[in-house]
Amino acid sequence: MLQGKNALVTGSTSGIGRGIALALAQAGANVMLNGLGDPAEIERLRASLADAGGVAVRYHPADLRQPAEVARLVADTEQALGAVDILVNNAGIQFVSPVEDFPTERWDAIQGIMLDASFHAIRAAVPGMKRRGWGRIINLVSVHGLVASPFKSAYVAAKHGLIGLTRSVALELAETAVTCNAICPGYVQTPLVEAQIDSQAAVHGLPRERVIREVLLAAQPSKRFVQVEEVAALAVFLCGEAARSITGAAIPIDGGWTAR
Ligand code: NAD
Repeated sequence: MLQGKNALVTGSTSGIGRGIALALAQAGANVMLNGLGDPAEIERLRASLADAGGVAVRYHPADLRQPAEVARLVADTEQALGAVDILVNNAGIQFVSPVEDFPTERWDAIQGIMLDASFHAIRAAVPGMKRRGWGRIINLVSVHGLVASPFKSAYVAAKHGLIGLTRSVALELAETAVTCNAICPGYVQTPLVEAQIDSQAAVHGLPRERVIREVLLAAQPSKRFVQVEEVAALAVFLCGEAARSITGAAIPIDGGWTAR
């Protein structure tokens, strides 16, 4: 379905990004991986994705906190794969704290990795997409781009901002064959959420099982975690021709969270 397309997925060494990279490779796209992690493990991941899809898979170690590295990531991907037809801005971090105690360097890192880096990547990738007359931009947002929770001021602000960026870019490109959409998952079981279970357990003084059901999934009516594969399948769908009229959308995949 995506044979001949080239995809850049930020934060694809773990969790949702890794799942999206695998699904895109299985759909036939060449993939540029990016993210932090142990080099030997990343090389194993790179090789396994290349095998799974029979496609070219590369890895770029850009640190998304540095705007110049984000621009270089896009340029190097265009050089290595020939183009960035599909850009998935997925990398993310979380930090939970009352706003008055929120460490300013954590605020800066969250805005930098999730909002600023998405802007820098879109800015660098759009000229090539316009020139080639086709493109897909997918921003991994969250239900926290649509609604808020306490103690997540930086995350909620960055994700709300990312939906604004999505809509603005979609309108600018609406007459082209480049779409820009936001995927808004509820809780997906990944390393990022695993870390939150532990920190929320400390905040609430509750055991893990109760934190999962009563805190994390309190607002998720399905009472089950969204699966990485479900988010990845939605991303692949948005890359297909059947999704060409979907642009500027913020699509929840949240077990009913935002239906309340
Ligand atoms: P994760 O921790 O499993 O993966 C995050 C990825 O981002 C990793 O590959 C990591 O190396 C990369 N990353 C972090 N800092 C980086 C930096 N400075 N430079 C380059 N890469 C960096 O997290 P996840 O749960 O898979 O989350 C992925 C995205 O989905 C995030 O944007 C997150 O906000 C969003 N999201 C997650 C959930 C969830 O429940 N897991 C729900 C909604 C939205």
